[in-house]
Amino acid sequence: MRLTVIGTGYLGAVHAACMAESGHDVLGVDVDPARIGALTAARPPFYEPGLADLLWRGAEAGRLRFTTSLAQAAGFADTHFVCVGTPQQPASGAADLSHVEAAVDALTSSQRLGTDGGTLLIGKSTVPVGTADRLARRLRATAANADVAWNPEFLREGSAVHDTLRPERIVAGVRSAHAEARLREIYAPLLAAGVPFISTDTATAELVKLASNAFLATKISFINAMAEVCDAVAADVTTLARAMGADPRIGPRFLTPGLGFGGGCLPKDIRAFVARAEELGLAESVAFLREVDEINQRQRRRTVGLAERLVGGSFENRCVAVLGAAFKPGSDDVRDSPALAVADAVRRRGAEVRVHDPEAIDAARAAHPELQFALDVNKVCEQADVVLHLTDWPQYRALDPAALAEVVRIPTVVDARHSLDPVAWSRAGWTLCAPGRPRLCPPHAEDGVVGPPH
Ligand code: NAD
Repeated sequence: MRLTVIGTGYLGAVHAACMAESGHDVLGVDVDPARIGALTAARPPFYEPGLADLLWRGAEAGRLRFTTSLAQAAGFADTHFVCVGTPQQPASGAADLSHVEAAVDALTSSQRLGTDGGTLLIGKSTVPVGTADRLARRLRATAANADVAWNPEFLREGSAVHDTLRPERIVAGVRSAHAEARLREIYAPLLAAGVPFISTDTATAELVKLASNAFLATKISFINAMAEVCDAVAADVTTLARAMGADPRIGPRFLTPGLGFGGGCLPKDIRAFVARAEELGLAESVAFLREVDEINQRQRRRTVGLAERLVGGSFENRCVAVLGAAFKPGSDDVRDSPALAVADAVRRRGAEVRVHDPEAIDAARAAHPELQFALDVNKVCEQADVVLHLTDWPQYRALDPAALAEVVRIPTVVDARHSLDPVAWSRAGWTLCAPGRPRLCPPHAEDGVVGPPH
């Protein structure tokens, strides 16, 4: 089939490449010429494992092309995936739908839209409930033969290619049998491989995405609230999470305590969900999500506070090493990155801050030019008074704590991702603190485990 993918960011570039890999003839469209230039040259504009290969294969096969022209897109196909951004509006927290509306208007203003088969616009961006119906009315004012479906995306950055080629389910929010048939045809290879296809109305499809993200955010904030309780009573949230997660009704995933969630999706999505629910007069139904958001923000402040106490109560004249800038491992995305939020807060409180990340330094520098960055962990940790482990890259788990102890001024580490080996680090002479877990000191210092960190 011939398809366009409008918006080629983290979602759209991967979707376009995976649709070409599935055998479709794909035209990716974006308003950003630099992005289109990179994609045309089969160069991913961001770090995503496996994407470069797919871009190359799609281009070689002649099934994947890119353009900045929405008019060209309108003439290229009858099926258009909408993958543009839906950022947060600063004041209200509601989703900003201007990019979605601009893309739809640009398509409809083209004379070439709406050939015999009927145009189908398939939304993949995360949008407030009711958006598909509103867009359908907007679209039909100029293109009577056009329809809108919503097919929310659940990919995770860092495993986006795998998640797109082997999704756990396909949710198809449709307004007609014709739209459902088109979606089944597009995803035929996945359906043949046994991927469940859940067909529903567009409002439910929009809500599936919002409710899923709200649930995941709630699970993370739940365990972080438990970490706060553990701190107060010298209990260990790591063991608590492991024991809770062993219950199959609860499960271990998204139950890792630490610095909380960030990125371009969860934080903005729960705020947009709250804003839309309030519009619908349902403020009470989603009030808990405001608390989920607040617990999440508090973990950043708690990490800063813990580090400040560890360097003696003030960051003035202190050197702080930060391991991690990306909002999560496997990605160079620094949108609403908890690691960078902490690094910047520590800098503003007077410390000299140096930041390491294996992939996200360019993006982090663009977002926070006032921070210092280096690609070498030893350089970042040189003479540090405290090391903050803020993004759970596997490289940091593999560090040799004995060698790193020789580099820093004071071997103290805040493991805000609960993934460093506490025994190995304390044996190597480190004092290891993690929110929600009793402080672990080197064996010679205080006989191993001691009381709460603050
Ligand atoms: P992004 O900012 O990386 O990409 C958005 C792209 O849309 C940009 O390249 C931008 O230039 C382009 N764009 C904006 N206006 C346009 C227009 N009028 N025409 C053509 N292109 C236009 O954002 P993203 O992370 O890819 O997210 C896109 C949507 O997908 C959001 O709604 C997000 O919530 C949702 N989503 C993202 C992920 C993820 O992991 N990133 C996962 C699931 C859903």
